[in-house]
Amino acid sequence: MKLANYVSGKWLEGKGEGVPLIDPVTGEELARATSDGIDLAAGLDYARTKAGPALRAMTFAERGGLLRAVADALTAKRDEYFDIALRNSGNTKIDAAIDVDGGIGTLKYYAGVAKGLDGARCLRDAGYERLGKDESFQAMHLWVPLHGVGIHINAFNFPSWGMWEKAAVAILSGVPAFVKPATSTCLLTQRMVKDVIDAAVLPDGALSVICGGGRTLADLATGQDAVAFTGSADTARHLRANPNIIARSTRVNIEADSLNLSLLGPDASPGSAEFDLFVKEVTREMTVKAGQKCTAIRRALVPAAIADAVTEALSARLAKVVTGNPRNESVRMGPLVNKAQQKTALEGIRQLAAEADVVVGGADGFKPVDADPAAAAFVAPTLLRAKAPKEGRAIHEVEVFGPVCTVMPYASAGEAYALAARGGGSLAASVFTGDDAFATEAALGIAAMHGRILVIDAKVAEANTGHGIVMPMCVHGGPGRAGGGEELGGKRGMRFYHQRVAVQAGTTRLDQLAAGAVEVAL
Ligand code: NAP
Repeated sequence: MKLANYVSGKWLEGKGEGVPLIDPVTGEELARATSDGIDLAAGLDYARTKAGPALRAMTFAERGGLLRAVADALTAKRDEYFDIALRNSGNTKIDAAIDVDGGIGTLKYYAGVAKGLDGARCLRDAGYERLGKDESFQAMHLWVPLHGVGIHINAFNFPSWGMWEKAAVAILSGVPAFVKPATSTCLLTQRMVKDVIDAAVLPDGALSVICGGGRTLADLATGQDAVAFTGSADTARHLRANPNIIARSTRVNIEADSLNLSLLGPDASPGSAEFDLFVKEVTREMTVKAGQKCTAIRRALVPAAIADAVTEALSARLAKVVTGNPRNESVRMGPLVNKAQQKTALEGIRQLAAEADVVVGGADGFKPVDADPAAAAFVAPTLLRAKAPKEGRAIHEVEVFGPVCTVMPYASAGEAYALAARGGGSLAASVFTGDDAFATEAALGIAAMHGRILVIDAKVAEANTGHGIVMPMCVHGGPGRAGGGEELGGKRGMRFYHQRVAVQAGTTRLDQLAAGAVEVAL
């Protein structure tokens, strides 16, 4: 079966045989994806000229209503999506919930944001700017939606959330979404788009999807488009360097890979609440979605004096994780998404093993429950312990996109912050400590290298939302290696799809313009 593409308001079949989509447990082919031969330039133009004006004519409240309707259409089919996530991504129920419910939750969150933006169609900064002595002529900063399209290029690990976290913000801003999911897992993305199109809840052209291909999208972008990319640093570099993108100064937001860390404070001792919470969280981050989360903990920084105890506690917890076919009730961790990712992850483990001892798992000989290792794409939960964290290179630079984490003992707080910085910029960090002074010092000590930091102690054991879970009201992105981008973060996420324009005029005219815009702090 070839998956149809939804472009120019029509379902279109691509040419050629297409790329096979595979069940990573059984190796069975599920569908094929190709957008070859489809006129992408026309499709982008259709979205810009047909859906753009329709969305811009709506108020934020009306666009928020669209998001709510999309969320409702998806909620009705939730069980089907879990089944697709199992078959095309090898997801357990919990894995699928993070992706499917995360996507629906983000749509609902932005529908809620819309409610606070009244009946306005655009945004403005607070107040006017005095330009001189005469108060009759002043300036105001408006934020108006771009007249282009959001070109959304996504990674394989979140076929649902990855699409909706971008599309929700674009559509609420008044900008259509043109979605290119990663080919290997595009079955879920395509089905969700199909259900939303069938439900007829969006203006024509507001949502498009291509399955496979899309290599010319950057060549086709205009200066009014906004390219939001999630994926590897290599592809990100390629997109950023695209001559058309450079020539037109097209906006590009990059969410790339990172070696996120969790830091256990020097106060934590075995048996303390923070020690136990840390061990639980590192294990969860390693095993949920088989470690295929861009925010997953890759480096566990622990006080040298208790490094043995932490390693033992993590090993004991990991020993209880049943890994195999998620169709088996006892299984808690599934496979990687395909054989290519498995090969890359195993190579990565071998690179890390040159600088660290393998404590649990490893690259060789893993036998999953209820699955044929030859056909399936499993990687064993693998814990390593760095031999000399300060001297290591691969342990700070090689992102193994799987259930893999390296324990790194540190001798002092300053050394821990220096190790944190060796990641070169990450999406998320967490600090587990019962010491209030250290909590503040550590948060500030590593803040500049991260997009988001969780500071955890026993008091927030129940309330905390988890290291790896991206919350739509918080910034998602990170400096340096993480791509230097910023998505979500509540209303501020909409900046990417808006042009900030200074309007200098008489105050009566400014008052008229201000009446159609809502004041927000962006
Ligand atoms: P990838 O190979 O870079 O692919 C990402 C997307 O880019 C896919 O849709 C891919 O399409 C597309 N692509 C590749 N070359 C392209 C080109 N020349 N022009 C246009 N599109 C192109 O990354 P991946 O393997 O899917 O994802 C894994 C990586 O993503 C990991 O490193 C992970 O850390 C990172 N990630 C980051 C975040 C975040 O929010 N920061 C979230 C999730 C994952 P095809 O699939 O057709 O090749």
